[in-house]
Amino acid sequence: MTQPAPGTSPRTTIKRAPERGVTDRETLYAILDAGLVAHVAVVEDGQPFVVPVGYARLGDDVVFHGSSASRLFKRLAEGQPTCVTVTLLDGLVLARSSFESSMNYRSVMILGTARRLEGDEELAALRAISDHLLPDRWADIRPPAAQELKATMTLSLPLAECSVKVRTGGPEDLEEDLADPVYSRVWAGVVPLVESFGTPEPDDLSRDADVPQYLRRWTRT
Ligand SMILES: Cc1cc2nc3c(=O)[nH]c(=O)nc-3n(C[C@H](O)[C@H](O)[C@H](O)COP(=O)(O)OP(=O)(O)OC[C@H]3O[C@@H](n4cnc5c(N)ncnc54)[C@H](O)[C@@H]3O)c2cc1C
Repeated sequence: MTQPAPGTSPRTTIKRAPERGVTDRETLYAILDAGLVAHVAVVEDGQPFVVPVGYARLGDDVVFHGSSASRLFKRLAEGQPTCVTVTLLDGLVLARSSFESSMNYRSVMILGTARRLEGDEELAALRAISDHLLPDRWADIRPPAAQELKATMTLSLPLAECSVKVRTGGPEDLEEDLADPVYSRVWAGVVPLVESFGTPEPDDLSRDADVPQYLRRWTRT
């Protein structure tokens, strides 16, 4: 089923800095495929909670998992509406005033109701979460046991109502600050922010083993 373009429902239309709103699904997919952590909103007894979790995009859904015993995950499985965000921080934008200073980012917000996955659908989602972080590792490791699957709650949220906002570029200083004899001399520009893996540190059993290719080639765009 074709899903609507991001940012096109009344609840997801970007009103502040609308020029930063992106409506193509390719950008939506690219951000979700580059991110590592999603923040999932749940309300329990009137108190909002925001839970950071690993996740993956599986076609036109985002999947994530938690403990079957988690009261927050239970609320989601019961059908409580949620809001999930993924944020990529690309740089600090340093202007000549604090008001004009900013951040370069790519971010996604998804609204909707999650569905609990079972059986083959759950296994496919768990594999997708593993593949998202480390493609090919799933084939190397032991598959989930029945009692492990029982202890796991895997949820799927459709990419049906969502929005994408992206800021790129340098600072946008006021004309008077650019002409000011003092503030015009302050350094301004962008400090890029890049995330990367460090050198893998083997445990005792892996000390003499080769580091897998999927760890060597891990990069993030
Ligand atoms: C980068 C990252 C990735 C994660 N990935 C996953 C994942 O894929 N699946 C998964 O199940 N969990 C993941 N976690 C842990 C997750 O954030 C929760 O801690 C976990 O799901 C338990 O939630 P709960 O509400 O059942 O915990 P509970 O122990 O019932 O929560 C009780 C209270 O503890 C506090 N709390 C819970 N979690 C956190 C937290 N992360 N930081 C600060 N305070 C907290 C809150 O005040 C909460 O109300 C991840 C955490 C991080 C930071």
